[in-house]
Amino acid sequence: VFMIRIGILGYGNLGRGVEYAVEANEDMELVAVFTRRAPASVKPRTNVPVVAADKAAEWKDKVDVLILCGGSATDLPKQTPEFAKLFNVVDSFDTHANIPAHFAAVDAAAKAAGHVGVISVGWDPGLFSLARVYGNAVLTGGTDYTFWGRGVSQGHSDAIRRVPGVKDAKQYTVPVPAALEAVRSGANPTLSTREKHTRECYVVLEEGADAAAVEKAIVTMPNYFSDYDTTVHFISEEELQRDHAGLPHAGFVVRSGATGKGGEHKHVIEFNLKLDSNPEFTACVLAAYARAAHRLASEGAKGCKTVLDIAPAYLSAKSGEELRKALL
Ligand code: NDP
Repeated sequence: VFMIRIGILGYGNLGRGVEYAVEANEDMELVAVFTRRAPASVKPRTNVPVVAADKAAEWKDKVDVLILCGGSATDLPKQTPEFAKLFNVVDSFDTHANIPAHFAAVDAAAKAAGHVGVISVGWDPGLFSLARVYGNAVLTGGTDYTFWGRGVSQGHSDAIRRVPGVKDAKQYTVPVPAALEAVRSGANPTLSTREKHTRECYVVLEEGADAAAVEKAIVTMPNYFSDYDTTVHFISEEELQRDHAGLPHAGFVVRSGATGKGGEHKHVIEFNLKLDSNPEFTACVLAAYARAAHRLASEGAKGCKTVLDIAPAYLSAKSGEELRKALL
């Protein structure tokens, strides 16, 4: 069996998830983990070499696809164009507003080197983006809705941790059930930010911190919380570790529209996910797109792609013939 040789760059939540995902795909093998930290300090779960990221060029001919597992805020904007010079790459860049600029940077680097770079792979952006494009193309003139949760938002949890007096925190984004029901009914409601999601915060205070002041600082925080109905629960460190250690997430993409005389026939398309582990699931999507990147590169493709540019059959280990028989 021909194996796709995978490398992981960055061994955090997502990197650990990719290690599992590669094991779950029979046509892939993990050949190296690259890290910016001292290699000896990084301990993968399996027996795979850990290599300093600045030595990656030595692995140029030993890795078919490098899966980038760094953070979107500062790691990927630098790393994806840089490593596209050496390898075919896949990343999960999720800062939606900056995707066009990231695409341009990766496209230039990948084209110059003759590689394929697939960016913004995961569930949102990723599978949710596909659902939105299918919905838009089919139900023209309809309305799009995306709900996130119930699940942990890392960005919002980090924002709470920066509030003075906070020792640790987890933030859950929660869709408002009545809003979701209205959307699913095909009623095409107009919904404000506050009407779509609520935010639940579980906060461990530092000793002697003023709970009322912390709560006020959280619920009035611009961009993150002030436009939402936010509840703050103060809990102990033990409770946070016992009840809020995981990284679950979920979400719903809905497109509703109407056809026929005067729009008499309503249609609703829904795609939803419920994930026990956001990073492990995201890693599974990355693995499937790593296969696509490898195939595209083998066909001579060059430059940057997103999930919107890649035909679904490229994701599957099955042949076209098998897919037509089993899944069409
Ligand atoms: P982490 O914070 O766990 O890891 C990011 C990087 O931090 C690692 O790759 C690692 O790189 C570095 N790092 C430094 N110190 C440590 C340490 N002590 N332990 C672990 N890692 C360390 O982020 P996640 O893996 O949770 O998420 C990465 C990105 O994935 C997010 O920024 C998010 O944007 C994206 N994402 C996208 C999704 C989508 O649907 N598109 C869904 C979920 C996430 P190094 O080894 O080089 O030090």
